[in-house]
Amino acid sequence: MIAYQCINCGFQSVTKKYYCPECKGSKYEEVNVSDEGEVFSYTTIHIPPEEFTKYAPYQVVLVQLEDKLRVTGFMEVPVAIGDKVTFKEIREGAYVFSK
Ligand SMILES: [Zn+2]
Repeated sequence: MIAYQCINCGFQSVTKKYYCPECKGSKYEEVNVSDEGEVFSYTTIHIPPEEFTKYAPYQVVLVQLEDKLRVTGFMEVPVAIGDKVTFKEIREGAYVFSK
């Protein structure tokens, strides 16, 4: 997946920020980071916001990528902490992972 890396200090984020939280720099470059990671934590959502009811119940997962970045993602299958997951697509603004 694509991440943004601060040109000044190397801070990475999957969402583009106006200012780098580390150095307050405002110049980013796009870098390719790993699609592979593992589940760091998760929450199961049974009663989602209206636009996501068709997916419920689903998991909101915090994925630790191999590149150290952590990404909040979305999974339709049950997961456990430590499961290996792969980034699949961005759907309605959410990062979708699969096992
Ligand atoms: Zn920076």
